Amino acid sequence: MSPTTSRSGQQLIKEVRSRIEEIDPSAVKEELELRDRNGNAEKAIALIDVREQHEYEAGHLPGAIHVPRGHLESRIENAVPDRERRVVLYCATGQRSALAADTLKQQLGYEDVASMNGGFVLWRDRGYEFVQPRILTDVQKQRYSRHLLIPEVGIEGQQKLLDAKVLLVGAGGLGSPAALYLAAAGVGTLGIVDDDVVDLTNLQRQVIHNSERVGEPKVESARKTIAALNPDVEVKPYQTRLNADNVLDLIRDYDVIVDGADNFPTRYLLNDAAVRERKPVVHASILGFDGQLTVFLPYEGPCYRCLYPQPPPADLAPSCGANGVLGVLPGIMGLLQANEAIKLIIGKGEPLVGRLLLFEALSTQFTELKVRRDAACPVCGDDVDLASTEFEDYEALCAAAG
Ligand SMILES: [Zn+2]
Repeated sequence: MSPTTSRSGQQLIKEVRSRIEEIDPSAVKEELELRDRNGNAEKAIALIDVREQHEYEAGHLPGAIHVPRGHLESRIENAVPDRERRVVLYCATGQRSALAADTLKQQLGYEDVASMNGGFVLWRDRGYEFVQPRILTDVQKQRYSRHLLIPEVGIEGQQKLLDAKVLLVGAGGLGSPAALYLAAAGVGTLGIVDDDVVDLTNLQRQVIHNSERVGEPKVESARKTIAALNPDVEVKPYQTRLNADNVLDLIRDYDVIVDGADNFPTRYLLNDAAVRERKPVVHASILGFDGQLTVFLPYEGPCYRCLYPQPPPADLAPSCGANGVLGVLPGIMGLLQANEAIKLIIGKGEPLVGRLLLFEALSTQFTELKVRRDAACPVCGDDVDLASTEFEDYEALCAAAG
């Protein structure tokens, strides 16, 4: 090659940089803030990280789409189908993203492209916010491979599951299957509240326990089973009953609550506290062959009291004696609860908010009812000041089926 036609790499980069738009990290930050304020994801900027996988995993800008420069041409159309959309690219220092911006503009027909000057290094040095994703180990990549293969979960969803904290109220018929599958799915922290010990009559449906554990506290039995199933999961056992004194402290640190309570006092108390702390509750209850399920998302859908404003008087509450239940029924309903909890954690699908799902096991029929938030609800209603409300215990009420 003759020296007159060849250029050094540095010269090429210099030429490219002179013909593309380069913007300062502060301007990128402003554009991102504008995007978040407007909530207009379609017209707003698409932020593309063109670095290698290991660089991206070590830290990236919030909301960045990862398209390594080596895959730019083959993947950009999937990431940004609209060629009129504003695209801002960045790399570590601003050179690779400048070249990528040039390619997008000159060869792929993207109209509004910019490269962030100084790249991720300058962004971080300025003290701007960045995301440091949890890195899955090789063993975790194997364990969760069937999650990683579905795009709705993927690495990002699995990381959310590992970072998630779910509180299970009850390690009985509903809590047992829910806890097992949430643990298998890799929910990183499972709190379990139950003051009971394993009884032989439980084993017909409470599958997290076993014959050798009869007489052991349920929270301890559940902890052992989960430890053997998945070492990624930290179990926090609370061998106690939810009461007005401990409920706020118990739920505060958790992202999602799975209500497997077998009695009205606990349900009402949990509801009132969860609305106050704005925690989503995945609720289910069972009796005989009938189950029901819904998600209470405070102020976005109804709460338990929107459906049932006051506890039933003691003489109308279901019998104080043991009620019969088909063993698989709590299994089915508990797994539906786990499904809702996972959707809430990964932010995918349609949670069962404002929808009450009824299941009848003998005919195998599902029925869905619409349920609405009640503006006059004694707990989540428009005029209720929950912060100054004292929580009540409803100890006089008898337990329903468990
Ligand atoms: Zn309500």
